[in-house]
Amino acid sequence: MAAPNNRANEIITNVIPHLRHSCEYNCIVRYTVRRGEVINVTIMAVKYIPTGTELTLPFRNDFMESVVELECAEHDGNMSQCPMEQRRRAWQNGQH
Ligand SMILES: [Zn+2]
Repeated sequence: MAAPNNRANEIITNVIPHLRHSCEYNCIVRYTVRRGEVINVTIMAVKYIPTGTELTLPFRNDFMESVVELECAEHDGNMSQCPMEQRRRAWQNGQH
C-alpha cells in the first residue's frame, strides 16, 4: 500500500494515536483506499456520543496476543473487570 495522502496521514499521525481503546468503544476508523493509496481516514461514531464523552476505539483484532495488560478507557484502573482483558488473560494462560 502506498503512503497515505497528507490529510489522511495527518489524521493517522496526529489524531488516532491519541484516542484510547475501550471494550465499550464509541467510534471506529474507516480507511478509504484508492489504487493502493489511503486517500481518506474517517473516525465514525458507532453510537450516540453525549457532549464531553471521550472518543474511544475498539481494540486491535490481535489483542489477545498482547503480552502486556490492555489499557481500556472504560475500565481504567480496574482492568481485571474488563471483559477484553479477561479474554486476553485466559488466552495467555492457555485456557483458550
Ligand atoms: Zn474494558
